[in-house]
Amino acid sequence: MLAVISQWAIGLTDLVAAFLFLFGLKRMSSPATAASGIRVAGFGMVAAVLVSFLYAFTVDAAVRPRLVVNLALAIAALAIGGVGAWFVGRRVAMTAMPQMVAIYNGMGGGAAGGIAAVELFGNRSHGAPQLVVTLLGAAIGAVSMSGSVIAWAKLQGVLGKPLRFGGQRILNGLVFLAVVAVGAWIAVLGLVGMAPVLPTATWITIFFALALVFGILMTLPIGGADMPVVISIYNAFTGLAVGFEGFVLSNPALMIAGMVVGAAGLLLTLLMAKAMNRSVANVLFSNFGAAPARAKGKGVSGTERETQASDAGIQMHYATSVIIVPGYGLAAAQAQQKLYEFVKLLLAARVQVRFAIHPVAGRMPGQMDVLLAEAGVPYDLIFQLDDINSDFASTDVVLVIGANDVVNPAARTDKSSPIFGMPILDADKARQVFVIKRGQGKGYSGIVNALFYAPNCNMVFGDAQAVLVKMIEAVRGLGAAAA
Ligand code: NDP
Repeated sequence: MLAVISQWAIGLTDLVAAFLFLFGLKRMSSPATAASGIRVAGFGMVAAVLVSFLYAFTVDAAVRPRLVVNLALAIAALAIGGVGAWFVGRRVAMTAMPQMVAIYNGMGGGAAGGIAAVELFGNRSHGAPQLVVTLLGAAIGAVSMSGSVIAWAKLQGVLGKPLRFGGQRILNGLVFLAVVAVGAWIAVLGLVGMAPVLPTATWITIFFALALVFGILMTLPIGGADMPVVISIYNAFTGLAVGFEGFVLSNPALMIAGMVVGAAGLLLTLLMAKAMNRSVANVLFSNFGAAPARAKGKGVSGTERETQASDAGIQMHYATSVIIVPGYGLAAAQAQQKLYEFVKLLLAARVQVRFAIHPVAGRMPGQMDVLLAEAGVPYDLIFQLDDINSDFASTDVVLVIGANDVVNPAARTDKSSPIFGMPILDADKARQVFVIKRGQGKGYSGIVNALFYAPNCNMVFGDAQAVLVKMIEAVRGLGAAAA
């Protein structure tokens, strides 16, 4: 009786959890509702995890003696993971977010691989579809785990330059074929019951080892510049692996969560590829083993003209319209609060102020939206590329803060540029452009930006936060002088 009630409770809660995942995801599509969307999906996850303890009432009599130990292990794992994630999540800097996503994603892949390992080593798969799906989930989960760990190490600076050598693609191809062959052999052993040359457990170990090695080999040659796209692809992999293992365990919540993560990862990959004007095939294959060309910026001449922060601030105070383009440097300087303080002064002076967000500004899609939301910037001041690009030409002043590649006109004109074809924010078309950056540092793509040398552009050198403090002081000084 208890077992039947538990099954019903699990089924019902999984359904509610699935609804909360989807509803939460829907709310994440707008910065205005994203924070509550994360909370809603989080509640769904907590409910799905808690209700899974009811499985304890449904297990076979043979498993019961191990139940207490298993439950204690599950609670200990949840406590360690939950507390660890809580602290890390609270302390992580915005600029270190891609690394955190990479390592969490790796853990997801590892968890899917772990479920598959329990099923395979315990010889628990019944029937061909279940065994094949377990093996697929195992391989994808293991690749995602080791690949994500390498991605984390690269973003964290633990691993330096991309590792490339002759015949790398052939080696990667051979290892991939070996994963497929050993997986197929395990399926044959399980389904036909043939006598194995080695014990089946040895084949399973070899299978996992090969999949882990493939994940490492696949990621090592990729440069740091493509790492966020790679993480997004591995995110889709992890979702797929989790979904497969949900099928194996007949766990609907796991299946739906896996599918949602897989689909979200895939869509994010497509979005990033589009924003960088690269096909998904190019992202997937051209850089797995080859260095992207890095032209240094052709046809850029002249000198950069420097101006003082106070002069730039005062000019914006007297402008009619200002568009602000934030980039990676804003996140690095953690200057979002100061920026909003400055914007409030401009708004008080009746200047029309808007923010223009490029889809790949920063190091993660949506990073700028999150930064501005964190500072309390109202959502109706924030515009995405397509909605504001045509307004630059009729704007008095554009303030570029720690952005570089996303406003580089070479993307429109220089066919040899690595960012050629990438849609950019048309900041150069405004009447006056001010660019805040520390010095001669290049953008992520490593190329020179022709905008900085344009006649309508002035550079304000310094850390974004320090420059904004000076701008605020200058504008406040105007008020004091008038009083
Ligand atoms: P960029 O990386 O092009 O440029 C950032 C600029 O910020 C640098 O030129 C640097 O110059 C400046 N900067 C750094 N620190 C500070 C600071 N403390 N104060 C002031 N300025 C600072 O950034 P964008 O946002 O314009 O472009 C994003 C790039 O990242 C694109 O090439 C995109 O393709 C890539 N990318 C983005 C992904 C995403 O999902 N968002 C994913 C993968 C790649 P200086 O050193 O002189 O200060």
